[in-house]
Amino acid sequence: KELTDINVLVDEYLRLAYHGLRAKDKSFNAALETHLDDSIGKIEIVPQDFGRVVLNLITNAFYACNEKKKMQIEGYEPKVTVETKKNKDFIEIQVQDNGNGIPKKVLDKIFQPFFTTKPTGQGTGLGLSLSYDIIKAHGGDIKVNTKENEGTAFIITLPTTKNA
Ligand code: ADP
Ligand code: MG
Repeated sequence: KELTDINVLVDEYLRLAYHGLRAKDKSFNAALETHLDDSIGKIEIVPQDFGRVVLNLITNAFYACNEKKKMQIEGYEPKVTVETKKNKDFIEIQVQDNGNGIPKKVLDKIFQPFFTTKPTGQGTGLGLSLSYDIIKAHGGDIKVNTKENEGTAFIITLPTTKNA
């Protein structure tokens, strides 16, 4: 583990995900909003592992926006918002999108290894199961809030003090 500035890491991976998707699909576009709490400071994490978590959440969020875009809803403006917050004993990282949302029958399965709704070659279904393991190994938690056709938010909490 290394003392890591979560805000810097989030910012880096946000850019990485955005440009990666743009490179694959020139028509891809989404508004990006960040609210990064400067009071967070550095916390003890494995930066590469945690980076993978953030990258997957952001990639999923953009993908969900693209799926909703395909529905050609009048006035739809794809948007991904990333927020970091400091609470008393933990920090919170939220990745929110206004994409296609997760249907109820799918929601139970998203953290299972190899579960994906994406076509072959576009998803391995390992992102969220790996993310879950990584967050748990850091003594944290990951939760999801979603509404079909309206959007999804993933919320990670990590202890700021002596994590496992
Ligand atoms: P993959 O991205 O390879 O499919 P993940 O484990 O990252 O694997 O996600 C599993 C599934 O959860 C996705 O295929 C998708 O159905 C659903 N999912 C994850 N994030 C979102 C999101 N932000 N919006 C809608 N569906 C999502
Ligand atoms: Mg994924």
